Amino acid sequence: MSDIPTVASNKVVFIQYTLKDDKGEVLDSSDGGPAMPYLHGANNLVVGLEKALEGASLGQVLEVAVPPEEGYGVRSGPGPQSVPRTSFPEDAELEEGMAFLTQDDEGNQFQLWIAGFEGDNVLIDDEHPLVDQTLHFRVEVTAIRDATEEEQKHGHPHGPGGHAH
Ligand code: ZN
Repeated sequence: MSDIPTVASNKVVFIQYTLKDDKGEVLDSSDGGPAMPYLHGANNLVVGLEKALEGASLGQVLEVAVPPEEGYGVRSGPGPQSVPRTSFPEDAELEEGMAFLTQDDEGNQFQLWIAGFEGDNVLIDDEHPLVDQTLHFRVEVTAIRDATEEEQKHGHPHGPGGHAH
């Protein structure tokens, strides 16, 4: 038996990660910053990455290719829609890839992303910018600790690098 901690439910796990697309382009990375904590088993990460991390040991480095079905999904809608720039507040700084909340006629909130720009129009998408993409992660497990009861209740880690209330 070894005493090396392993990743399991109700552990707060700290990871250094790099995410690349199929072309090898870096989409996101924790490089140069502190490790990112997440609560294992609480859907803080995309399903495919969380699955791969289950049972991983402290210090382990994983290379994982996550298919869209276990990542940000497969596109089901019609794709980006064009709306006039004037439908946004004039002082809003719009950027490609940016997420924002909006609501329908019944007041239900939902998330949209800015997919790009087209003349005086903004392309908005109701699906994540990484929909349909295979996600190539390189992940290193740099720390593992027990989650507090409060963290388990909230479904996310607290403290440095985690959630602040
Ligand atoms: Zn919390």
